[in-house]
Amino acid sequence: MAYWLFKISEQDLYPDKPGISYVFDNTHSVRVKKGDTFLYLDKARGYSFTATGTVGRIAERKPTLKESERTRKIRVVYTAHLADVIWFSSPLSISPTKIEGKRVRAQLGIRDVNLLGWSQSIPSLNEEMYSSIIDIAELKGLFRVEGSSRFSIPDTWGRAKSRPAMTGFSALVLGRSLYSCIVCGTQQPGLVDAAHLSPYATDIENRANPANGICLCKYCHRALDLRLIAISPSGELLVSPEIKDPVAEFHFAQIDAGTRRRLLLGVDPAFLELTVKWHNEYLYSKATSRTSS
Ligand SMILES: [Zn+2]
Repeated sequence: MAYWLFKISEQDLYPDKPGISYVFDNTHSVRVKKGDTFLYLDKARGYSFTATGTVGRIAERKPTLKESERTRKIRVVYTAHLADVIWFSSPLSISPTKIEGKRVRAQLGIRDVNLLGWSQSIPSLNEEMYSSIIDIAELKGLFRVEGSSRFSIPDTWGRAKSRPAMTGFSALVLGRSLYSCIVCGTQQPGLVDAAHLSPYATDIENRANPANGICLCKYCHRALDLRLIAISPSGELLVSPEIKDPVAEFHFAQIDAGTRRRLLLGVDPAFLELTVKWHNEYLYSKATSRTSS
């Protein structure tokens, strides 16, 4: 996954259609691909970020006469066809001459846009910078993702579009259990995730539903996904009897059911019951495969 800044300005050379396609040539020597994420930096609107989205596909053609007159180095002209475009409800300025722009620049650690390599038409962004910009836009309430029920994230949405909804999900789920794994209690940053009880892959309607999320460490998350463990609505942890590993046993013995029940505040019991159902199905399939072999 790559991130790009597409600079929008008043120009007549390329037939950009903002929100639909972005045109660039080989002299930028960049490798924009299908599935990449872009962010518009609109120079004509007060040097502001105005939209984000995904590159749907790339088409290429020979330069027109006018384009090749600009510089003889242009051999190919590319058109990035855009998908999942979300327009910010108002521009997020990083103008060095505006108070708001200066504030956002300070938050992002931008001292000079050109020093970041943003002087070229299509510079790349690292994921951290992209995330910081999107976080600020989200905090300011600039995202309005339309066309969906409250917690649903359709498969047709790319990463850029689903991200604002998922950021809210993660923040809520992690925050309410104080960033500690509700199975083993670890609070190690980088090792805890906002996990889905009813899976992200199959339950489209509940992808962004915080009542379908719990904070789990990587170890316990994988154990839940494998159905080796389940969490009952009363906070009890069900563990497959086949587990004999002392590291696993240590993980699963750290928190009592009462403490876990308090950490489950805000979780819909119906989703916890699903984990119990799947765990029991798993144990049953194990038992029947043993008797039949
Ligand atoms: Zn854990």
